[in-house]
Amino acid sequence: MKQSIDKLCKILKLEIERGFDNKAVVGGLDRILDTWEMEARLDEVPEEAIKAVSTRLQDYAGLSIASRAEALQGIWRRVQAEGVSEPFPTPTPFPDPESPPPVHGEVRKGTPLKRVEAEPVTSKASKPAEKPAPAPAPESKEPELEPAALNAPVTVLHNVGPKNAQNLGRLGLFTLRDMLYYFPRRYNDYSSLKAINRLSYGEEVTVIGTVQSVSKRTVRNGQRQIVEAVVSDGTGAMRITWFNQPWQAKRLRNGMQISLAGKVDQYLGRTVLNNPAFEEIDQQQLSTNRIVSVYPLTAQVTNRWLQRQMHQVVTHWAPRVPDPLPENLRRSANLVDLPTALIQIHFPDSQEQLKDARHRLAFDEVFLLQLGVLSQKYDWQEKSGRIFTSDQQDITALQNQLPFKLTSAQQRAVQEIRADLESGHPMNRLLQGDVGSGKTVVAAIAIAIVTGAGAQAALMAPTSILAEQHYRNLLKILASHPNQAESGVLQPSQIRLMIGATPESDKSAIREGLADGSIKLVIGTHALLEDPVAFQDLQLAIIDEQHRFGVQQRLILRSKGTNPHLLVMTATPIPRSLALTVYGDLDLTVMDELPAGRQPVGTYVLTPRERERAYQLIDRQIRDGRQAFIIYPLVEESEKSEALSAVEEHARLQREVFSQHKLGLLHGRLSPDDKEAAMRRFHQQQDQILVSTSVIEVGVDVPNATVMLIEGANHFGLAQLHQFRGRVGRGGDKSYCLLVPDSADQAENERLQVMAQTNDGFVLAEKDLEQRGPGEFLGTRQSGYTTELQLANLTDVHLIEKARHHAQALFKQDPDLALPEHQLLKAALQRFWDSHANDVS
Ligand code: ADP
Ligand code: MG
Repeated sequence: MKQSIDKLCKILKLEIERGFDNKAVVGGLDRILDTWEMEARLDEVPEEAIKAVSTRLQDYAGLSIASRAEALQGIWRRVQAEGVSEPFPTPTPFPDPESPPPVHGEVRKGTPLKRVEAEPVTSKASKPAEKPAPAPAPESKEPELEPAALNAPVTVLHNVGPKNAQNLGRLGLFTLRDMLYYFPRRYNDYSSLKAINRLSYGEEVTVIGTVQSVSKRTVRNGQRQIVEAVVSDGTGAMRITWFNQPWQAKRLRNGMQISLAGKVDQYLGRTVLNNPAFEEIDQQQLSTNRIVSVYPLTAQVTNRWLQRQMHQVVTHWAPRVPDPLPENLRRSANLVDLPTALIQIHFPDSQEQLKDARHRLAFDEVFLLQLGVLSQKYDWQEKSGRIFTSDQQDITALQNQLPFKLTSAQQRAVQEIRADLESGHPMNRLLQGDVGSGKTVVAAIAIAIVTGAGAQAALMAPTSILAEQHYRNLLKILASHPNQAESGVLQPSQIRLMIGATPESDKSAIREGLADGSIKLVIGTHALLEDPVAFQDLQLAIIDEQHRFGVQQRLILRSKGTNPHLLVMTATPIPRSLALTVYGDLDLTVMDELPAGRQPVGTYVLTPRERERAYQLIDRQIRDGRQAFIIYPLVEESEKSEALSAVEEHARLQREVFSQHKLGLLHGRLSPDDKEAAMRRFHQQQDQILVSTSVIEVGVDVPNATVMLIEGANHFGLAQLHQFRGRVGRGGDKSYCLLVPDSADQAENERLQVMAQTNDGFVLAEKDLEQRGPGEFLGTRQSGYTTELQLANLTDVHLIEKARHHAQALFKQDPDLALPEHQLLKAALQRFWDSHANDVS
């Protein structure tokens, strides 16, 4: 099946499983469209099928559950023609975690897992057939290979037939390896065994006792079934109650020894347990009397049942998994070996050992990620790129044409780019600079160097508003030179804009001009990536606001030339740890300086009651000839209602508050033409206020705007608020950013105060990373990548630097992983990279 179709089906299945909550994809299903459409085109999925998918998903957020189901069914029917043989999956309700396991096979008796620690591999009570082979000797010279059996399907397990295999499949578990690497979501610590007379309210405990009595009754006119048991342990007796789990009565007999795990509750002054997990104590004590793993589940798979299958897999196979990390690395990084880590993460003997296991496995994730990124960088550096030398005189002449002097950060960036262009290898650089630091002009100089030598350049921006703005700026910088014969400067006709709204006739003229080389610079949106656009000699590809694009898009643009130089720019101040991990294949230039004369934007957090003051400030500024933005947040995560609130507020403000001024309106549901028009009116000062949703966020440059009022500010991350704030303070005038939270939550609003305290994007980014995790920085298109990392936390700078240090050392020693002792690692890297490659940088 085509990859894009397969990916779509996976997402649909997940969404169906989740009950159509529009959360199978972070930020909503419609977020996949941009990248998916392109992937589908690359897969040669018929245009009309792509259309069928995108029209249905576009409005998905605003649909009722029933209509969502219908929409997905419609998509499924359509893609069946593309080779999907499976019928539309039926949604199943989420089961009660304690409902009876789907398989009633006898659990094989074995040693309680407690023993694993003392006798890790040769547990005496194991059946001979299950007796694991000795753990691989770390000293062995021969490269150890992974047992092929790890790829065996889950059906080789006892109790797992086709039906259970299907259930496991819905968790993504197809092979034994999948299971070994399916880690618990959390743990309940029941390892503290307690006497009944010493229980206290609220504790998580395990109690062992004898069943004294069992009864079952029905209350509330038969609507509720209650199973009650009394259990005693010699120190006392307690009442145990299960609500609406009538089958529990069948599992209990008088005189039976059971261990119960749960949270101590109180009823009429006595300690009780409600709905505890329990087991007969001569069984393997997998779910009581220890730290209990809780796995992510799906319909028809209960935790207890899954634990048992895990137990089969882990006890038998974990000890046989050879460790891909060389012994010396493991020792110097102070890591437990892989078998131990795998056993302990599933069935921890103590919190301490669980921590070590998680650390080891998280290290592996980041380590493999870093190794992969390093080898990508290495591959890229091996390629040769065209040499573009630039004359300092020409550069100086170009700079002298600018209405300002470059900051020293900009000059440094220009020097680094010049060195890249002269290196004989393709440039692969990330230019990271806070909003307003002046990245565009740096890009312009790179363009001047490359096009001055007769080659072509392309600049891609995420929105047409931004592309158009770049087009205007670059025309000014590159084409208004009085002495047009001088190198690095183009004719206006050699610079073209290509966006979705460009008329087809212009588009085909641009295509022609790019193919025959008469156009030297094209600026556009992802319209540039559309297949028919071919360049005569593309030597420089620039991507602005990199976090809005996926890797795939970067690759496609790059593939329009032969090893062209690549410059990606971002205003998202990515904290260093994250940059090193995610953008580790790029060389990094940081512009940490704003042009002189910029005053910091005065930032204030206002209560809703103080809103009137904000309006007065805006009014005064407009009377002084300035302009203002008013931003409304995403409400209910639906773009429809987001637009609605901006639309309604726009009307209200125009009518009741600013009736003497002109208010423009911008939101995501406007057509590209209308968006452009709204921006243009604001740019040309026909409108004094622009009411907008978050679509305004990236890059827009209107130096005359001095007020940014953000409603519902608490809905945004600090990094994003900083982006908004960067829309003002771009001219020399004093500017204001006013944040109005719509929540009375003190802690939330305190978070916003950080905005008032600093104008430094990096400080805010670090704070955001702490508070909200890495999703914000990676952008929605890339957040899949973080969900793939099961254990590693990208905010853990210590872990990342440790992994990076070791990855670099290893890479230096054996960049191709050619040494025999690195063969396992090479295989692990291959596997890891296959499943992640699309998500990184
Ligand atoms: P960003 O880095 O956010 O993309 P831009 O390239 O849009 O920033 O630049 C922001 C504004 O600052 C533009 O109006 C630009 O003309 C201006 N600018 C850029 N460099 C300088 C400088 N060295 N001195 C003064 N103004 C500058
Ligand atoms: Mg910019």
